[in-house]
Amino acid sequence: MSRVKEEKIIIITAPSGSGKTTLVKRLLNAYPLLGFSISACTRQPRPGEEHGRDYYFYSEEDFKQIIEEDAFIEWEMVYTGKYYGTLKKEMHRIWEDGRYPLVDIDVKGALAIQDKYPTTSLSIFIQAPSIDELRRRLVARGTENAQTLEERIDKAEYELSFAPQFHKIIINDDLEKATQELVDAVAGFLKAEA
Ligand code: ADP
Ligand code: 5GP
Repeated sequence: MSRVKEEKIIIITAPSGSGKTTLVKRLLNAYPLLGFSISACTRQPRPGEEHGRDYYFYSEEDFKQIIEEDAFIEWEMVYTGKYYGTLKKEMHRIWEDGRYPLVDIDVKGALAIQDKYPTTSLSIFIQAPSIDELRRRLVARGTENAQTLEERIDKAEYELSFAPQFHKIIINDDLEKATQELVDAVAGFLKAEA
């Protein structure tokens, strides 16, 4: 496919446990014009995750080298000692391929990209119906221990205060309804192609 006419970006952000990964998968299936931007990170892969598909998994030393090379659009220490970053070359790979990058990113990273691309990005904040429900979902997902669970809940409470700064907030109560809202928002934004 030929490169896109306008370099637009879709930013999806949410406190951990809100259903962002679930919704992003559904959006990517519904909308082939989007390309998932694979981030770099220094955490360990979870069972089933693959380097170059879910993330580019790097050592801290290699990640810091990439920072030195100025190859990130943004990067953050998202959890204690764990770095995550959006690679410039990922954005360009997806645009060259005639698609629009979808970045799945923490709240601060999302604000950083929104600031860099104020008119060509659409930022969407996914919100669980309540903190209690968010806790239930994280426990049910079974990926956290007591300490990482509390860290994610604390961070979620803090991140919720940033919600009004994004272009759109979607409450993920009913999954089907939230998916449709997300697809409609992205379709509306991309249709405004010059
Ligand atoms: P995130 O990527 O935001 O951390 P996930 O997509 O992993 O969140 O969702 C957290 C858990 O909640 C998963 O087990 C997922 O299946 C579940 N989940 C997602 N959306 C809903 C929903 N609308 N109702 C109930 N459970 C949900
Ligand atoms: P997880 O470890 O659960 O995969 O992701 C933890 C958090 O890091 C999620 O909120 C995810 O969106 C965020 N994240 C993933 N990639 C990036 C990135 O490139 N930059 C930033 N700032 N956050 C990211």
